[in-house]
Amino acid sequence: METFDLIIVGAGPAGSAAAYTAANEGVSVLLLEEDPEIGKPVICAEGISMSTIKPYLDIKREWISQDLDGAIIRGPFGDEFKVEYPKCGWVLDRTKFDAALADMAKARGALVKTSAKVISIQNSKVVVDQGTKVEYGFKFIIGADGIASRVGSWLGVDTKLGLADIAVCAQYVIENIKVDNRYASLIIGHRYAPGGYAWIFPKSETSANVGLGISPTKTKEKAKNLLDQWLTQEFPNGVIKQRTFGGVPSTVLKHIAGENFYLIGDAARLSDPLSGAGITNGIKSGVIAGRNAVLRIRGQKDSYYAEIKKNILNEIKFHLKVRNVYWRLDDEECNKVFKIGKRIFDGKIVDDIDMRHLVKEILLLSPKIMLKWFGLLF
Ligand SMILES: Cc1cc2nc3c(=O)[nH]c(=O)nc-3n(C[C@H](O)[C@H](O)[C@H](O)COP(=O)(O)OP(=O)(O)OC[C@H]3O[C@@H](n4cnc5c(N)ncnc54)[C@H](O)[C@@H]3O)c2cc1C
Repeated sequence: METFDLIIVGAGPAGSAAAYTAANEGVSVLLLEEDPEIGKPVICAEGISMSTIKPYLDIKREWISQDLDGAIIRGPFGDEFKVEYPKCGWVLDRTKFDAALADMAKARGALVKTSAKVISIQNSKVVVDQGTKVEYGFKFIIGADGIASRVGSWLGVDTKLGLADIAVCAQYVIENIKVDNRYASLIIGHRYAPGGYAWIFPKSETSANVGLGISPTKTKEKAKNLLDQWLTQEFPNGVIKQRTFGGVPSTVLKHIAGENFYLIGDAARLSDPLSGAGITNGIKSGVIAGRNAVLRIRGQKDSYYAEIKKNILNEIKFHLKVRNVYWRLDDEECNKVFKIGKRIFDGKIVDDIDMRHLVKEILLLSPKIMLKWFGLLF
């Protein structure tokens, strides 16, 4: 049986980031991906913000579909304002992006195997379905197998998601439309997307990832039906090129590390519960895990959980509180928040958005909401 210092299950952004970080330190790394091609299928709106990813990864021009200079925020009753935030981020081409991250892992010495589905983990070895069953031994293992992760449960972690712990998403790639392609559009309020929001992430002047995420605790309607209804109004002449359905976890796990393993990315439920963004936290957690796994392999003390807590979990916990308040607002109250946002952002150019500061500003400008929710948030 071939044995590796480190085995990583799943070659999404989190797994590849862990693989290139650890391989760079000289340990032997095996990265296993069940899909035949890395980066396909894309189950993502592909948006990423520059400020959050910059300390962890340089985004290359060839991975980008569209540069973004801000966002258009639409309230529940149709009114809009623009947040001018030059060079705030991009809409990626995730097929190229995910493949490039796995190539970085290969270039640094990791062995990457596709069409390799891990089917169980027993006594420091994985059993992999590669057409035939093959076993590989490991000293340390990282679960980067996304929202449907099984690695965590195989290793004794309770990764179950309740109805309140998941945003259910439907998204189409739509062509033959006209969009303001320097701005991502976010439609807040519960009218189109109960418990979540709807989005238009431009890929060009005539195409976009258009979708919505909902909370199954807020509606019995299917995300697909809600999206279809909205699209008949929003883009009646749009041509649907690709349909995607998926979930985003929004919870905090009790354990994301154990004796000889870490969980990272969506497998560790590290996506942002407010925005649903998980690419950056996947890469952050991958880089932190890759570095710390090497310490553990070399018998040294690690600081994986402390670093994840400081760099990711504290923000997730705050955003969960904001999300819980958002769930309790009706569309009239959402519209009040929207109007305050308009007062804060309209006509200004910003170069940073601090969520805690923004929430405090909104609460101060709306004494009624403040009385109701301040204690819950801070
Ligand atoms: C509709 C939608 C829109 C989204 N839009 C955005 C967005 O705009 N911006 C953003 O930042 N985030 C977005 N997200 C979230 C983002 O896509 C995820 O958070 C991100 O992909 C998580 O990365 P990951 O590496 O943890 O997991 P994944 O990208 O899910 O990768 C996990 C990998 O593991 C593989 N795998 C699973 N099981 C096994 C196994 N047993 N053996 C081998 N391989 C296995 C899978 O095939 C997959 O390649 C969106 C999500 C959805 C559903």
